[in-house]
Amino acid sequence: MTASTLRSILTINTQALGENWHRLQAQAPQTPCAAVVKADGYGLGIVPVAKALWRAGARFFYVAHFEEALALRQTLPEAEIAVLNGLVAEPRAFLEARLRPVLNSLPELEAWGRLPAPAPANLHLDTGMARLGLDDDEQAALLQRPAMLKAMQRPFVMSHLASAEEPQDPSNRSQLDQLKAVTARLGLPVSFANSSGIFLGPDYHFDQLRPGVALYGANPTPGQVNPMRRVVRLECPILQVRSLPQDRAVGYNGTWRSAKPSRIATVPLGYADGFSRQHSNTAKLFWQGQPVPIVGRVSMDLVTLDLSDLDASQAPLPQAGDTLELLGDQQSVDHLAQSAHTIGYEILTSLGARYERRYEAA
Ligand SMILES: *Cc1c(COP(=O)(O)O)cnc(C)c1O
Repeated sequence: MTASTLRSILTINTQALGENWHRLQAQAPQTPCAAVVKADGYGLGIVPVAKALWRAGARFFYVAHFEEALALRQTLPEAEIAVLNGLVAEPRAFLEARLRPVLNSLPELEAWGRLPAPAPANLHLDTGMARLGLDDDEQAALLQRPAMLKAMQRPFVMSHLASAEEPQDPSNRSQLDQLKAVTARLGLPVSFANSSGIFLGPDYHFDQLRPGVALYGANPTPGQVNPMRRVVRLECPILQVRSLPQDRAVGYNGTWRSAKPSRIATVPLGYADGFSRQHSNTAKLFWQGQPVPIVGRVSMDLVTLDLSDLDASQAPLPQAGDTLELLGDQQSVDHLAQSAHTIGYEILTSLGARYERRYEAA
């Protein structure tokens, strides 16, 4: 391991990842639990993430892009790997790497049927996202020509929920009803529930769970206690601490001014690290359990924090070289997301490439 060079440190707990997979599997012990590892394992690094999930017991993996699937095949030679974005490469290229497309239209199903023999594939039915998958007319046409399904070996029919994290939203039930009506006539295994969908109950489980974000520690049940273990910690070392007289501006465009003599700390964390400029003057880091507000604009490589309200009787005040926590026990990805009016998914997938990344199993 290289010596620390005062970069922010992103620690990814592969043990917690595996445990989260088990916790999701335990919600439906009879239903195999796949793992969605698109976008570089939700920003955490697909190779260590996929290895940890495989060790935990996951055997079926979803990515978005064909290239992600090719790379994952190198890491997991035995896994089932499905490409959500569809038949985005030549069918033969899928076969050669033993990848399965998620067929998103009737023409894609037809193209798969032109292979010399049935090959593994998923078939995606749109039940309310209007994004990918067979639309209502295509589903009706398929029911007239069920022989088309013979193109698929070890098939899964799948659909995706639009509002699973809002259990009261009536669209969940209407998507479920449509999926049940069609799949009852197709007679094939079904995959429906994403992370939050798993917590909508057994009606939503079918034959395969398909979680992503909850594996990485985000809360699949917003408003309730997070049933998942925390996976990421992000710590930022203080480069400098300075004393500021009253009524001085901090950062680009002077969007914050000191109301009193202040202590300002600067840490290596910026929008080039995926730390959104939306966090300017709103987000907090933590020192020994106490919040430290970001003051001024988030800049490309740095943010500035106001140490002035820390309680020195609780813990010695932080100095240059000390480390503040951005993500960890004090602040979850979901909580940080709120200050930038976004979601934990975006916090995770924006985690930058310049952090020192450490993988630990604890
Ligand atoms: C991303 C994705 C998932 C995983 O969703 P989470 O909300 O992260 O659990 C499942 N299915 C499809 C089609 C997806 O695009």
